[in-house]
Amino acid sequence: MQKIAVTGAGFAGLSAACCLAQKGFEVTIFEKNNTIGGRARQYQSSGFNFDMGPSWYWMPDVFEAFVQRFGHEVEDFFELKKLDPGFVINFGKGESLSIPAGLPAIYQVFEKLEPGSAEKLRSFLKEAAYKYEVGMRDLVYQPGLSLSEFFDLRLLKSLFRMGVFQSFSKYVRKYFRHPQLIQLMEFPMLFLGAMPQDTPALYSLMNYAALAQGTWYPMGGMYNMVDAMAKIATELGVEIKTSAEVEQIVVEGNKAKGLQTKKGFFPASFVVGAADYHHVEQHLLKAPHRQYTERYWNTRVMAPSALIFYLGVNKKLNNLQHHNLFFDADFQAHARAIYKTPSYPDRPLFYLCCSTKTDPSVAPEGMENLFLLVPLAPGLEDTPELRRACFDQVMERLETHCGEPVRSSIIFNRNYSLTDFQQDYHAYKGNAYGLANTLFQTAIFKPKMRSPKVKNLFYAGQLTTPGPGVPPSIISGQVVASLIAKESSKVK
Ligand SMILES: Cc1cc2nc3c(=O)[nH]c(=O)nc-3n(C[C@H](O)[C@H](O)[C@H](O)COP(=O)(O)OP(=O)(O)OC[C@H]3O[C@@H](n4cnc5c(N)ncnc54)[C@H](O)[C@@H]3O)c2cc1C
Repeated sequence: MQKIAVTGAGFAGLSAACCLAQKGFEVTIFEKNNTIGGRARQYQSSGFNFDMGPSWYWMPDVFEAFVQRFGHEVEDFFELKKLDPGFVINFGKGESLSIPAGLPAIYQVFEKLEPGSAEKLRSFLKEAAYKYEVGMRDLVYQPGLSLSEFFDLRLLKSLFRMGVFQSFSKYVRKYFRHPQLIQLMEFPMLFLGAMPQDTPALYSLMNYAALAQGTWYPMGGMYNMVDAMAKIATELGVEIKTSAEVEQIVVEGNKAKGLQTKKGFFPASFVVGAADYHHVEQHLLKAPHRQYTERYWNTRVMAPSALIFYLGVNKKLNNLQHHNLFFDADFQAHARAIYKTPSYPDRPLFYLCCSTKTDPSVAPEGMENLFLLVPLAPGLEDTPELRRACFDQVMERLETHCGEPVRSSIIFNRNYSLTDFQQDYHAYKGNAYGLANTLFQTAIFKPKMRSPKVKNLFYAGQLTTPGPGVPPSIISGQVVASLIAKESSKVK
């Protein structure tokens, strides 16, 4: 059996490991932290159970297809609940937009705000469904190694229909005029990628995910997805080593021989770098084996980092849903502070997940589990004072929104930001979500999945194809496994 060494036990590493083990390889994962899951780790304290990273369960078809590949169903691992409302956007002064589960009710919400917009949403979603279908069935499963991969795809015939060359911002404004509807459609761009004007309209497939497929929640928490993947990996014989930081990928000639960890050398026929790409290239490989320079990385547009507060509150709070977006501040000003003139926003937008509204198991009885996130530019200065100032700003607005004091009821408070992302995950510039989804960082323009310099070294994860987010990271692991299986059959 050929041995495969995977660096990193995030979604991408776990997914690659499961798929490779299924193909008959002997797989070992090396994870630097003492728990698995990477950015989707879980943190438990004082009876609260926090998901440290992802909280939006979108595109349920991706995880379903993943587990089915191994003879499982999602219900084997957790109960998946559709949220209703899916999420709510607060605009301040008591104005809010609640997005119900199910299109008929969503059409009514649109029509009420802007007469005629329900019909426009129908045609917007028809196009978004097409993009989702082509994008998620074909595009994301291409490794993005060469343009020729796209020659025989429906995609090529329909590059214009896919909206690859059109700005998302302009595209949305062709359909809708009401500022609240525009913000509703643009918010996934801000949190996951780039300024809407720099994001290709292709990404309206995210609106399809948000509105047509809906927002879901795995009871017990998002970490259940990680746990499910680890169970599948274990069933397939994958060994997962935690507290096992990789220090070097040992290369001889143009071939990786294996991994060096503190505990010794581990030989392997193939290596998968599923930790942050920049870290793997710049820190685990010697200079002659790198394909990208530090300058290359420095000129990439990174997706945001974040300042996160994990809060345990010893009472129930009013006026909150499971997912709450606070857009009671200038959206463009915050987007500029992330992408154009990196700085702490004067009045940040923020996102609050109150998972206890759906799942009482994640907090002691009668209490609330809050995850509060402010998107920030990567590479910013990060000090306790800056975190505190941001906290006070957003808590004041949260208290106004809830109509009651919150700070005095906080019994657990942990904050997490740029320096933590760097320390915990070796995240370049402390990024949270990898590379921004701009046109020139999509598909073949992303850092490549396969090293041209080290024959048996491959990459997976949110910094390579297809991109950031839980579903793309899982897909990334699947794609890299296929590439390795193909390469291994050539070698044989
Ligand atoms: C705060 C936050 C909120 C998010 N919200 C959402 C959301 O709601 N929905 C969504 O779909 N996506 C969301 N995302 C994005 C999603 O979580 C990520 O895209 C995905 O988890 C990335 O997985 P990955 O495997 O590529 O990387 P990671 O999860 O970072 O895994 C890489 C692993 O490599 C390990 N590693 C690093 N260096 C080494 C080394 N030298 N040796 C050994 N191991 C090493 C790290 O410790 C880590 O465990 C969010 C991300 C963050 C940070």
